[in-house]
Amino acid sequence: MLQTTPQTMGQQFGRRSWAEPWKIKMVEPLRVITRADRERALQDAGYNTFLLKSDDVYIDLLTDSGTNAMSDRQWAGMMLGDEAYAGSRNFYHLEAAMQKYYGYKYLVPTHQGRGAEHLLSQAAIKPGQFVCGNMYFTTTRLHQELAGGTFTDVIIDEAHDPASTHPFKGNVDLNKVQKLIDAVGASKIAYISLAVTVNMAGGQPVSMENARALRALCNQHGIKIFLDATRAMENAYFIQEREAGYQDKSLAEILREFCSYSDGATMSAKKDSLANIGGWLALNDYDLFEEASNLVVVYEGLHTYGGMAGRDMEALAIGIEESAQDDHMRARIGQVRYLGELLTDWGIPIVQPIGGHAIFLDARAFYPHISQDEFPAQTLAAELYLDSGIRSMERGIVSAGRNAKTGDHNRPKLELTRLTIPRRVYTQAHMDVVAEAVKAVYDHRETTRGLKMVFEPKYLRFFQARFERL
Ligand SMILES: *Cc1c(COP(=O)(O)O)cnc(C)c1O
Repeated sequence: MLQTTPQTMGQQFGRRSWAEPWKIKMVEPLRVITRADRERALQDAGYNTFLLKSDDVYIDLLTDSGTNAMSDRQWAGMMLGDEAYAGSRNFYHLEAAMQKYYGYKYLVPTHQGRGAEHLLSQAAIKPGQFVCGNMYFTTTRLHQELAGGTFTDVIIDEAHDPASTHPFKGNVDLNKVQKLIDAVGASKIAYISLAVTVNMAGGQPVSMENARALRALCNQHGIKIFLDATRAMENAYFIQEREAGYQDKSLAEILREFCSYSDGATMSAKKDSLANIGGWLALNDYDLFEEASNLVVVYEGLHTYGGMAGRDMEALAIGIEESAQDDHMRARIGQVRYLGELLTDWGIPIVQPIGGHAIFLDARAFYPHISQDEFPAQTLAAELYLDSGIRSMERGIVSAGRNAKTGDHNRPKLELTRLTIPRRVYTQAHMDVVAEAVKAVYDHRETTRGLKMVFEPKYLRFFQARFERL
C-alpha cells in the first residue's frame, strides 16, 4: 500500500508540495534600506559583509550559525535554566541528550565549537605532529596549527571540483591517508579530523561506508578519529537518501552508527542543534576526557557549564532531540534544495550536488574576467548586498588565508560565495526573492569589477579584512 506522504501523493496526483512541519507563533519585522543607503553601508563596511550592521540587512544568509529559530519547547526550556555555578541540572540533560543521540561517553561543555576545538587540539596534538582533515575548516585548522600541528588535506579530489556530482563529495581519500602514514609514520599523526558535512566543500556529505573504511584503516595503525559533528545530523539525512541500506533507518539510528566510528567529537551546537549559542567536546577515552575537563576550567568555565548559561544548555538539549526528527530535516534540506534548484534552472553556476546548509555560488564561473587575486567571491557577496540587501559571505581566497611558511595567499580551487540558510527562519517566498536577486546580479556580471584588500588582520582575516573597489 502506498503511504500518503506528500512525496508519494506527488507521484500519484501530479504536483503536491511539502511544507515546513511548524507554524509561526512570533514574528520579527524585516527592514529594507534604499540602494543609496546600502551603497554607503557597504563602503563603511569595507566591502566585507561581516562588517555590515544587521539593521542594514534585509535577508540575512551570512551564516547558519546561531541564527536558528528556536521552538516553543526550547523557549519553555529557557525558563527552566538552573544557573547554579556547579552541577546545573541542565548540564545533565545536555549530557543525556548527547549520549543518547551521539553515543559518546563523556561530555565537556564549551561556549561554542571553537572552544571545543581549542581543548581537543591542546590535549591531543603534540608539536610537530600532523593532523589529517577532509578539507580544512577555518577555526579547526587554526587551533590545530596553534597547538603545533601541521594540517594535511585528505579529501577526495572531486571535492575541489564544483561541477563534480559525486554523491559523497566529503569523503576521505584513504590513499592520501595511507601515503601520509607511509611517509611520516602513524605515530606522527595526532588524529584524523573528520568533518561531516564538509562546510568548505559546499556542505557535502561523507558516506557511512567511507567512515567505516577509515575506521578500519585507523585501527590498523592505532590512529584516533575525531568528528567535527557540527552538521552530522544533516549528514545523516544524505546517507538516508543516497546510501544503500539506509532508506528505512531513522536519522537518529544513522547518526549513532556514524559516530560509533569515531573516538570523540567537537560540536558547534549553533548549527544542527537549533540553538543560538553553545558547543561541546565529547570523548570516549577517560584520560583524554580528564585532561580536557581540566583545560576547560582554564579557558571556558567550570566543567558543568563551559561558558554556557544553564538555560542555553537546556535549549540545546531540547534542540538536539528536535534536530533528529526526520520531518524537520526533510524541510530543512528541502528548503536549501528549493533555492538551489531555482538557480540551477536559470543556468546560474553553483556547487553541485546541492549541499545541506547552503547554496555556494561558483564565483569563478560567475566572474571569469576577475582574477582570484581580485577576490571574485568577495565581490559577488558585495554585489548581492548592493542589489537587494541580501547578506552572503565569501568562501574563497580570503577565507583560505595565507600559507604559514611562505606568507603567500593560499589559493583554493574553490572560489565560492555562500548563501547560508538559517534553520526554521525564512519562508519559501524569501527563497524566491533571493533567487531573483542572484539572477539580477548574474545578468550584469560582465560590467562588475573586482576588489583590492586594504586592511588584513593576522588571524581569520575574512572576518575583519577591508576592501576597496578597483
Ligand atoms: C561553525 C563551525 C565550527 C566552529 O564553531 P563555532 O561555534 O563557530 O565556534 C567548526 N566546524 C564547522 C564545520 C563549522 O561550521
